[in-house]
Amino acid sequence: MRVVLLGTGAGGGFPRWNCACVRCDAARDGKLPARGPECAAVTGNSRDWWLLNTSPDIRTQLGAASALWPGPRHTPVRGVLLTDAEANHVAGLAVLRDAPGLKTYAAPPVLAALARARTALGRHAPWEWADSLAEGGFVLAGGLVVTAHPVPGTAPAYVPARLKDRHWVIVYRVEDLVTGRVLVYAPRVSTWSPLLDDLVATADGVILDGTHFAPEESPEPARHLPVSGPTGSLATLARHRHVRRIYTHLADTNPLLDPASQARALVTEAGVEVLPDGAEFALWRGAVRLMRPAPAPTRPAATAEPRRAAHAPCGSE
Ligand SMILES: [Zn+2]
Repeated sequence: MRVVLLGTGAGGGFPRWNCACVRCDAARDGKLPARGPECAAVTGNSRDWWLLNTSPDIRTQLGAASALWPGPRHTPVRGVLLTDAEANHVAGLAVLRDAPGLKTYAAPPVLAALARARTALGRHAPWEWADSLAEGGFVLAGGLVVTAHPVPGTAPAYVPARLKDRHWVIVYRVEDLVTGRVLVYAPRVSTWSPLLDDLVATADGVILDGTHFAPEESPEPARHLPVSGPTGSLATLARHRHVRRIYTHLADTNPLLDPASQARALVTEAGVEVLPDGAEFALWRGAVRLMRPAPAPTRPAATAEPRRAAHAPCGSE
């Protein structure tokens, strides 16, 4: 199983376009690494890739990940697994709109919240939409079997109040059928539940919500479990040292954004990682190895036969 971290910032990315805090300014000055909004990609065979969420920056993020570049006839992107309906996780669907045949999995409330968007997207290209909570999970092209697990979480702000009491947030468990390796993708976690603990305990790697380092960073403490503190995720992750543990979805308030910070040193000492956008790693045959820390977004030299678009002609709206 190969995994690419396409984006590791919170919803607004880093730096945020409308923020002039110390860290955002440092990122604009090139003193801290910039990060796009959180999303990732996973594959079991290096040919069929599945996106875990799609950020508003997905076009740039895919352009920086050479493994996901289109071939002469088609894109290797087969579809999307949505963890929730937050705008920063679904906005990229509009960017992908001209690729026919994509399949998107989401929980029923998310599918309902996207009803109008799905109709609009369907006018661009035929897509398939599926219930990720369907009993027994589902198998993806490329040899991955996935189960989705509801966790506590709030509805997006744009959802009417009458629809808010549902399973809005899910965690994905992705297993490679050949190697048996397991990835848990949990970019939005408000509490550490027994269910999440079991999922992490039986995984080889987990990509976890690291939005806030300290509870006081959050204006809405219920939305994201902080990293630090006696009930923070870092203390809990200490029980799972056999698992590769990676934080994602970092907000601009989070000192982990600074590689020289005490917070980063604390997390690193605990064996938990904060990786840059574009980092790619593999979980296979009992070994976990970093394949590429941060790929340079360069295109190969032009070939005699020009690369064709995988979808509608250039210039389509
Ligand atoms: Zn800021």
